[in-house]
Amino acid sequence: MIPITFRRLSAVSCCIMNAAHSLQTTIMQQKSSYRFVVKVGTSVLTGGTPRLKRQRLLHIVQQTAHLHQAGHEVILVSSGAVAAGRERLNFPDYGRSMPTKQMLSAVGQSRLMHQYSELYDIFEVVVGQVLLTRDDLGNRTRFLNARDTLLTLLDKRIVPIINENDTTATHEIRVGDNDNLSALVAALVEADMLIILTDIAGLFTADPRQDKDAQLIERVERIDDSTWALAGDSVTGLGTGGMVTKIQAAQLASRGGVTTVIADGMEPDVLRRVLAGEAIGTRFDAVDTHIESRKRWLLVEKPRGRVTVDAGAARKLLTGGASLLSVGITAVEGDFSRGMTVGVVAPDGREIAHGLTSYDSGDLRQISGVKSVKIPEILGYSYGDAVIHRNNMVVLV
Ligand code: GLU
Repeated sequence: MIPITFRRLSAVSCCIMNAAHSLQTTIMQQKSSYRFVVKVGTSVLTGGTPRLKRQRLLHIVQQTAHLHQAGHEVILVSSGAVAAGRERLNFPDYGRSMPTKQMLSAVGQSRLMHQYSELYDIFEVVVGQVLLTRDDLGNRTRFLNARDTLLTLLDKRIVPIINENDTTATHEIRVGDNDNLSALVAALVEADMLIILTDIAGLFTADPRQDKDAQLIERVERIDDSTWALAGDSVTGLGTGGMVTKIQAAQLASRGGVTTVIADGMEPDVLRRVLAGEAIGTRFDAVDTHIESRKRWLLVEKPRGRVTVDAGAARKLLTGGASLLSVGITAVEGDFSRGMTVGVVAPDGREIAHGLTSYDSGDLRQISGVKSVKIPEILGYSYGDAVIHRNNMVVLV
């Protein structure tokens, strides 16, 4: 069934989007060298078969190698370790438990890298393997270490090939899918663009496999409820991500100042054409291109708790550039310490900001809804009026 929201995108709005897209195109073309992250899903590498296809890997390697040689900085985030492991072990029926997948990934990751390494050798491009978990990106020191490593690889003209570190990843520290991982990486290195290659040409007004009238959406200026409705429950066979995780990734990247394009991985010369601004796939605009790198980290870290605020406080945070004060807080969830990242939630349940809290969760429960002047009286001390200072906050919408 096609959700009602698919109908909202009329031919007229598509035309407007196209016109705006050309403007964006002109802006993009002014730059001669890009730093970009390419995410390749398992489905792109297997082509719907159970095996990694060498020709498909070559298609990606050839394009990225040429762009690298043309002076661009390329980071590849590639899935395919689990599929490679399964293939090597002759498609065993081990079930789908987490340790089984981790085991398959351990077998497959080295084989995947070996294949990439051999293919990049043809183009005399050196690659480096980087395995990451959310924990590596959600801790400020490790975040900076990961960034230094990636930037050093780029500086030495080496193409980093990233995958999630499946072996050590438990639910708490996993990103869970490489779509989101690629967005975290794009924010981490302050990339110009994130290109998510998949087995579908982009985001459509309906599922193109089921509806012949489905139209490709060329541009999404802002991700909102109607965008999420378009994601449906589309999932692909071997990988983890469907359209939902791709939109999550686009949202995360765009909040971090990174333009995202979702495109068909089998489209000829797709990467060069996307970078040249050609209207190919679905392009998601970056929300803020000037976010400070210190604040990008706040986007990447998983919040340890949540504070809900009243409508007045939400408005001041969104439009007034204000700090969050205790008086505007209506509820506190989770156990967290002073200095940790928390999510700020509007009365309608939307997460509107991430910020470093000046008070721990116990303190906040005591001072929520209370005027700042009362804080010393209630707690016996004060860390200042702002529960989250504006300088330590990034607004998400
Ligand atoms: N890390 C997994 C693999 O290499 C893939 C995760 C994903 O596709 O999102 O197979």
